[in-house]
Amino acid sequence: TKVQSEKIIEITEKYGARNYHPLPIVVSKAEGVWVEDPEGNKYMDMLSAYSAVNQGHRHPKIIDALIEQASKVTLTSRAFHNDQLGPWYKKVSEITGKNMVLPMNTGAEAVETAVKAARRWAYDVKGVPENQAEIIACEGNFHGRTMLAVSLSSETEYKRGFGPMLPGIKLIPYGDIDALKQAITKNTAAFLVEPIQGEAGIRIPPEGFLTEAYEVCQQNNVLFMADEIQSGLGRSGKMFACDWEDVEPDVYILGKALGGGVMPISCVAANEDILGVFNPGSHGSTFGGNPLACAVSAAALDVILEEKLVDKSLELGEYFIQKLKTLNNPKIKEIRGKGLFIGIELHEPARGYCEQLKEEGLLCKETHENVIRFAPPLIITKEELDWAFERIVKVFNQ
Ligand code: PLP
Repeated sequence: TKVQSEKIIEITEKYGARNYHPLPIVVSKAEGVWVEDPEGNKYMDMLSAYSAVNQGHRHPKIIDALIEQASKVTLTSRAFHNDQLGPWYKKVSEITGKNMVLPMNTGAEAVETAVKAARRWAYDVKGVPENQAEIIACEGNFHGRTMLAVSLSSETEYKRGFGPMLPGIKLIPYGDIDALKQAITKNTAAFLVEPIQGEAGIRIPPEGFLTEAYEVCQQNNVLFMADEIQSGLGRSGKMFACDWEDVEPDVYILGKALGGGVMPISCVAANEDILGVFNPGSHGSTFGGNPLACAVSAAALDVILEEKLVDKSLELGEYFIQKLKTLNNPKIKEIRGKGLFIGIELHEPARGYCEQLKEEGLLCKETHENVIRFAPPLIITKEELDWAFERIVKVFNQ
C-alpha cells in the first residue's frame, strides 16, 4: 500500500502544471524551524520558503494577529479605507525611513510597482522624453516571474517562449561599477539591484560596490532601487542588506518575510518625491493593502524587532559559516554568506546533496545548479544549528 505522501505527490503531479521540481517530501504541519510530513517524519527547514518564513513557521504572535483580524474584516478593496492599512504604513515607514509606502501582494508585483514608479518619475520629474526611459539591472538577477521580471532576467530559460520582452532594459555584470557608469544615459530612470543576489546563488557584490553605485546614481539623477525582497528584513544579518554599506536606497522593494510566511504581502517604500507620481487610477491591486495581510505583516515586523532577529541572524550566521568552513570536501568551491543567508558553491550539481540532506532530516534546495542555500528561519537556536551541522558533516565528509 502506498503511503500518504506518495499519494499526495501523485495527485499533485497529475493535475499541476509542471513549472516546479520539488524534492519528494510533503509538508503537512510546521512549527518554528521544523516541518513534518503526513507519516510523522520531522525535518529541519533550512530554506524558510525562500526567506518568507524568517520569523519561523506559524509564529504564535503572527497567528494570533491572523485569527484576531480574520474575526473582524479580511478584505475591503481600496474602494474603502480599512483600519489596518494606515498603522501598517507607519510601521513600514519607520523601519525603512521612507515617508510613503505602496502595498501589493507578491514580490514580482512590488518590482512591477517600483519600475512603474521609476518610469513615471523619469517622465514627470526628470524630464525624460516620452517612452524613452531606461532601467538598468544586473546579470544574474531574480526579480520574479511576471513579464517585466523575466524581461529583466539574463536567464534564457526564464524567457524562452515568452517573448516579446519589455523594452527599455539594460543589463550590466553584477558588481561592475564601470559598466554601470557606461550604461547610464540621460534617459536612465533607475538602477535596480539586489544588494545580495539570492537566486543567483548568494552572490555578494565586491565591497564598496553598493556605495559607489549609489553615488553614481545620485550624480546622474538616477534612482537607486534595492530589491530587498529576499535579502531584507534581517536575512543578511542587517535589517536591509544595503545596511552593510550604509547605503539608503531611494526605493526599497520588500516582500516575503513582510508577511511572516502567513499572508502574501509586498510593498514599495520611497519618499513622496518618487512615490508621489502615482495618482488615483494609475496603479492598484484588489488585495493590495488588505486588512488581514496588514495585521499579519504588522505582527511579523514586530516579531523581527522584538525578538532581535536581525542581531540573531548576524551572530548565528557568523557562527554557522565558521563551522561550515571546517567541512572537508574537495567538491566545495566556496562557502559564502552574510548573516543566515549562506551558500555553499560546489564544483558539481547540488541537487544530490540536497536529496541526501533530506534523508538526514534537513531540508534545503539547490539554487543555480551548483549552490546549496542555507537560509533557516532566523529564530533558529545555536543548538539547532549544531544539529544541522552534524547532518551536513555526515553528507559532506563521508
Ligand atoms: N525579488 C527577489 C530578490 C526574489 O528573491 C524574489 C523571489 O524569490 C522575487 C523578487 C519574486 O517574489 P515573488 O515570488 O513573491 O513574486
